Formats: sequence, structure tokens, C-alpha cells
Amino acid sequence: MRLPNYICDRWIESAGEGVALSNPVSGERLVSVGSDGLDLAAALAHARQVGGTALRQLSHGERAGLLARIAELLAEKRADYFDISRRNSGATEADAGFDVDGAIYTLKSYVRSGKALGDTRGWVEGARVPLSKEGNFVGQHFLVPQQGVAIFINAFNFPAWALWEKAAPALLAGMPVVVKPATPTAWLAQRMVADVVEAGILPAGALSIVCGGARDLLDHVREGDVVSFTGSADTARRVRTHPAVVEHSVRVNVEADSVNSAVLGPDAAPGSAEFDLAVREVVREMTIKSGQKCTAIRRVFVPAAHAHALADAVASKLGRITVGDPAAEGVRMGPLVSRAQQLAALEGIATLRTECELLCGGPENFAPVGATAGAGAFVPPTLLFCADGERAEVVHQVEVFGPVATVIPYADAASLVRMVRRGEGSLVASVYSSDAAFTDALVADIADLHGRLMVVDAAVGSAHTGHGNAMPTCLHGGPGRAGGGEELGGMRALGLYLRRHVVQGSPERIAALAEGCADAATLWA
Ligand code: NAP
Repeated sequence: MRLPNYICDRWIESAGEGVALSNPVSGERLVSVGSDGLDLAAALAHARQVGGTALRQLSHGERAGLLARIAELLAEKRADYFDISRRNSGATEADAGFDVDGAIYTLKSYVRSGKALGDTRGWVEGARVPLSKEGNFVGQHFLVPQQGVAIFINAFNFPAWALWEKAAPALLAGMPVVVKPATPTAWLAQRMVADVVEAGILPAGALSIVCGGARDLLDHVREGDVVSFTGSADTARRVRTHPAVVEHSVRVNVEADSVNSAVLGPDAAPGSAEFDLAVREVVREMTIKSGQKCTAIRRVFVPAAHAHALADAVASKLGRITVGDPAAEGVRMGPLVSRAQQLAALEGIATLRTECELLCGGPENFAPVGATAGAGAFVPPTLLFCADGERAEVVHQVEVFGPVATVIPYADAASLVRMVRRGEGSLVASVYSSDAAFTDALVADIADLHGRLMVVDAAVGSAHTGHGNAMPTCLHGGPGRAGGGEELGGMRALGLYLRRHVVQGSPERIAALAEGCADAATLWA
């Protein structure tokens, strides 16, 4: 079956054969996608003119109502999405839930915030600025939706969540969306868009999807468009420096790769609650979605005295994880999404092994349950130990996008900070300690290089939302190699799609313009 693209409010098949998407357990071909022959300039123009115009006529409350109907529809069709996720991504029930339920949860979060804005349409920001002695000339800052199109170029690991965590704030802000999911797992995003289109929820032009290669998509961007990219640092560089993006000063948000850290505090000895919480979280991060999460823990920093104890505890739990076909009884972890990703992960493990000892996993002597190792894209959970993290290089540089983490002992707080910072900018770090002085100092020393810091002690216990879990109400994104982007964070996310300007004039004119606007303080609250 060839999946069509949806552009200019029409379903259009690729001109060529397209690319076959396959089941990473068996290698079975599922569907094909392609973008050859599509008029992508027309697709963007249609979204801007038809979709943007229609969305901007609606109030925030009305747009939130549309998101509510989408969330409801996706929840109804959840079983179909889990099935596609299992077949096309090798997802277990938990993995599919992370993506699909995460998407629905995020949409609902924006529904709540959007509905609270009621009948408002624009945004007024801050107090009036007096500009004349007599008070008859003032300035006022406003925010308005950009009159372009929001283009999402997404990574393969979250075909559902990545679409909706970006589309919810864009549509709520009043911008139409064109999504280009990553080719290997495009099926789920395509099906969700097809369901929303069939239900007739959104105005014409508000939602389009291009599957297969991006081709000349970026050649046609212009002022007022927004490109939100999620994927590897290499592709991010190409997107940022694309001539049309540069020429038209197109706003680009990048979520790229990251070598995230988990840190065990010096107080967290074996037997402590914090030690156990750290072990559980490292295991969970390595195995959920088979470690294919941009936020997953890659480096585990442990006081030298406890490093082997932590590594043993993690390795012992990993040894009890059944890896194989998600459809088989008892399987807790499935394959990577493709043979290409398997190859990249195995190469990454080999690179890490040049300066790390293999504690468990690795490609040798591995047999998945319910599947043939040779046919599927399996990589077993793999734990490494890097005895000298200060001298090591690749352990701080290489993101193995799979079930792989490295334990790194540290001697003291100064050395720990130096090593964590060598990630050169990460999405998230988590700290497991009840030593307030230690955690406060560490947060202060590494906060500038992280988008999110999660501090866990016995008082928090298992109530935390997870190292790798991006909550719709909290910022997602990180500086430096993580891409420098910002997503989510509640209504903050709308900022990407709004343009700030100041209007100077008489108080009467300003008052008229501000009528019916929402207070922009809500965005940053
Ligand atoms: P990728 O190879 O960079 O691809 C990402 C997207 O870019 C895909 O849709 C891809 O399309 C598209 N693309 C490729 N070349 C392009 C070009 N020249 N112009 C425009 N688009 C282009 O990344 P990936 O392998 O899918 O994803 C894995 C990476 O994403 C990991 O490094 C991970 O850390 C990162 N990631 C980050 C986050 C975050 O929030 N920070 C979240 C998830 C993943 P095709 O698939 O058609 O090639």
C-alpha cells in the first residue's frame, strides 16, 4: 500500500515508487511513502493563504475547541495507533503509550490553557510606555500570529507525540501546520493526519503532511514561516544554513541530539532511597522505547566508592529484561526502528568500547525472544563503564541512540561538574541525592548547559515524572549541541509562532487595538 500525502487539501500519491517502511522485528514490508512530484511551493502557499487566514479568524477558545476534538478523536482511535506503532516501530505497549498517549495528554494540556483564554484573539504585553510629557503619545507591545506556515521536520522516534506537541501550540497560536515526519516511521503520523482530515475538524489548509524526503521543501520558505526541526545535529546544521532560511530570516527551532546525564550524590550509598531511585531510572531510561529517546540517560556519574555497586545493580536489572518481538509473551523491550539505526547503534557501542569496559549487553551472544536476531533490528541493553571520565573523549561526545549508557565514576564535585559540562549542552540532567548543599551547588554549576534539571530525593520518591519525560507544562529543549531550541513549557510554546511588535500612538488608538486581546503575561506565567 502506498500512503498518499495531504497537501493543498488533497490526497496526492508520490510520483515514484517511494520508500518501503518495514517491520523492524521481521523485516516485513508494510507500506511505502514518497514525496516525488509534489508541488511543495504550492503546499506551503495554500497553507499560508487558506489555513492561516481561517485560523486567524477564530478566537483562542475556538481553536482550543478544535484541539479538544482532535484529542478526543485520537483517543477513540488509540488501538489503531498502537498497532501501527508495534508494527512499524517495534514498540511495546509501554513504548506506544509513551508516544500516542503522550500526544493526547499534551493536546489536552493545550486545550485547558486555550479554553481559559475564551474569546480573546490577540495578545497585549506589559504596560503602556509613556513617550510624551503630555501623555498623548504612548507605546504598547503586542504579539500577533505570524502569517506564514509552521513547518515541522520531525525525527523517527516520536511520530505521534512530536507531531502534536508542536501542532497544539502552533494551531492555538493561529498558524497552519505542514508536517514532514521522518521517513522510517511516517505511517503513524500519516494515519493520524488522515483521521483528523476525514473527521473534518480543522479548517481547510490548516494541516498538511508530506511523507518521504523533504526534497525542495525548504527552498520555498519565506518571511513569517517557522521551521521546527527535531533530529540529528548534522541535519540541523543543514536546515539552519539553508539559503532560503537564511535569506528570509525564517525562525528556526532546533531540538537535536544530547548526551544527557544522571548524577548520584556522594550521600547516596547503596541501600539509600536515592541509590535505588537512580538504579530504577537508569534502567527505565535505557529500555523504554529501546533507548531511542533524545532525553534518555547516556552518562551516569557516580561517586567512585559506589560506582561498581551502582553498575552491578543496573546490570542485574537489565539482565532480567526480556528483549524480542513486542507481540511475544513477556517481552519488555523491542528492537530499534530500523536496520540502519541498529547498525548506527552497534557502531556507537564499538566506539564507546575504545575507552570503556563492557559490563553487560553488546551484540555478542544475543538471542531475541520470538524473533530471529539476523532478521530484526535488535540491540540488547548495553551498560559500559568508563574508569577515567576526565581523560575520556567519546563518552562525552557520542550519543548512541539505543539502549546504551555508561557509568562514569567521579572523585569530587569539581571533577563531576567538569565532566557533565563536557556534554556541551543537554536536554536534561537528573540528580539523586538528599544532600541539599551538593544538589544546590551542582544545579548552579550546570544549569546554563541544560534545558531541564530533575532533582530527586527520598521526599520526592517515585512521584517524579521521569528523567526522560517531557511534560507539556515544563520546558523541553536544551542549549549547545541539544540544538538551542525551546518547546513546550505550557503557553510559552506559543511564543515561537507569535511575532512581537510595538505600536506607538495616542492612548485612544492603543486602547482600541488592545480590545479583546489576552494578557501576554499568561504566556510566561
Ligand atoms: P535525522 O536523520 O536528522 O532526520 C530528522 C528529520 O530530518 C527527518 O524527518 C529527515 O527526513 C529530515 N531530513 C533529513 N535530511 C534533511 C534535509 N537535508 N533537509 C530537511 N530535512 C531533512 O534524525 P533522526 O535519525 O530521524 O533522529 C534521531 C536524532 O534526533 C537523534 O540524534 C536524537 O537525539 C534526535 N532527537 C532529538 C529530540 C529533541 O527533542 N531534542 C527528539 C527526538 C530525537 P528523512 O527521514 O526523510 O530522511
